[in-house]
Amino acid sequence: MLTIEPRFERAAVVAAIARIHAAQQASRAAVGATSAAERIEKIRGLRDAMFVHRQEIREALWNDYQKPPAEVDLSEIYPVVGEANHAIRYLRRWARPQRVRTPLALFGSRSRILHEPKGVVLIISPWNFPWNLSLGPLVSAIAAGNCAILKPSELTPHTSACLKRVLAGLFDESEVAVIEGDAAVAQELLSLRFDHIFFTGSPAVGTIVMKAAAEHLTSVTLELGGKSPVIVDRSANLDEAARKIAWGKFLNCGQICIAPDYLLVDEEVRDVFLEKLRAAIAPQTGVMVSERHAQRMRALIDDAVKRGAGVVLGGGSNGRIVEPTILQNPDLQSAVMQEEIFGPILPVISYRTLDDALAVIAAREKPLVLYLFARNRRVIRDVIRNTSAGGTVINDTLVHFFQTYLPFGGVGRSGMGRAHGFFGYESFSNIRAVLDQPTRFSALQWMYPPYGRFKRKLIDWTLRWF
Ligand code: NAD
Repeated sequence: MLTIEPRFERAAVVAAIARIHAAQQASRAAVGATSAAERIEKIRGLRDAMFVHRQEIREALWNDYQKPPAEVDLSEIYPVVGEANHAIRYLRRWARPQRVRTPLALFGSRSRILHEPKGVVLIISPWNFPWNLSLGPLVSAIAAGNCAILKPSELTPHTSACLKRVLAGLFDESEVAVIEGDAAVAQELLSLRFDHIFFTGSPAVGTIVMKAAAEHLTSVTLELGGKSPVIVDRSANLDEAARKIAWGKFLNCGQICIAPDYLLVDEEVRDVFLEKLRAAIAPQTGVMVSERHAQRMRALIDDAVKRGAGVVLGGGSNGRIVEPTILQNPDLQSAVMQEEIFGPILPVISYRTLDDALAVIAAREKPLVLYLFARNRRVIRDVIRNTSAGGTVINDTLVHFFQTYLPFGGVGRSGMGRAHGFFGYESFSNIRAVLDQPTRFSALQWMYPPYGRFKRKLIDWTLRWF
């Protein structure tokens, strides 16, 4: 059992959790009964609060790990504003009962699908986009009519405190509350019964969360990570590919779940491409979230170099700063090609045939996202057909996160369930099936026992024709 760090006084935290959980249980019915219009008002309030507190949010993220204000705007605030605007626009439509067709055997009945709130939900978020990955899911949870407890990461304490302040100004804790704390606090929460758990973080902790959820048969959405490959085919526009990969890999110091993890490049264009990539990499921005995380990067580089990888760029580090680093031809068994990197190191592997590249991908867990730079449509088709991934982007990196009309999530060890837009709304909803049968007549009654000759014939017919 983990112990709660002293700064999160155990007794106080446990008491707060019990109080808030009970208060939310008491208010779930009232919160769940709200109309689409009322939920839209709440989401609008949340969106507007982000503009009011924009400076405060930027400062919190700067204090946590020197995230540049422009990146806070673009990668923390903007995705939540986008998610909120999307829900504001479509929630009435999502909330409408959805009529479905009726098979012939049930002739006379009418059926519809309702989305009802799950109840009280728990959202556990990581440090790498502490604002975005806490409030994005919260927008979906509110849209679906739930009460929610948020547990942001202990590694970004300024942002967690800011989240708590801003949300406390908008919601009573019996509806939305933030509990600050570490892994032990998360476990305290996980021991309680929730109606859904939305977890974003590592596959290792995802396993712990899912085990805890199983105790209560609670449904989960797991937004995890892994090694997302990027393929550069010889038909790619190499200048564009270099710029986009450099941006997607080294933004936030590589600490992005959907960052390209490693690069597979056609050997015919490798040298030209690497030159362009080096030129496209901007000077260092941001730092690793902690000394420990920077130390892990140093160990990954050392291990790869020891096993024969060449350092094409960077390789140096100082405290929490790690230079953008390109490693050429690392051993496929080295740690940098086995673990999710989650930092500014890009291993580059050249391939002779597309099949060779696909074999490297197939030997690893199914990724959260697969990136492909190519203009040859046949290559694009073959890559999609012969791989599996949570998402796929052709000729760009990261941008699918902003595509609120697409589901976002992983497959296998990169996650389960979906976030964003309608799909996020669905994750936080119980999808209820309602079949409305006329009171006088039902075709199936003809087949109730006892089974005489005529009924057996009818059943036979039904099997064959309806
Ligand atoms: P993490 O799994 O260490 O922590 C995530 C959250 O879980 C934090 O709030 C933490 O307090 C809590 N936690 C940690 N240990 C716990 C335990 N033993 N029991 C219960 N709760 C515990 O992840 P992280 O280091 O904050 O984030 C990095 C990981 O998150 C990477 O693997 C990355 O790919 C993944 N990630 C995925 C997405 C996505 O959308 N799929 C987004 C961002 C990050």
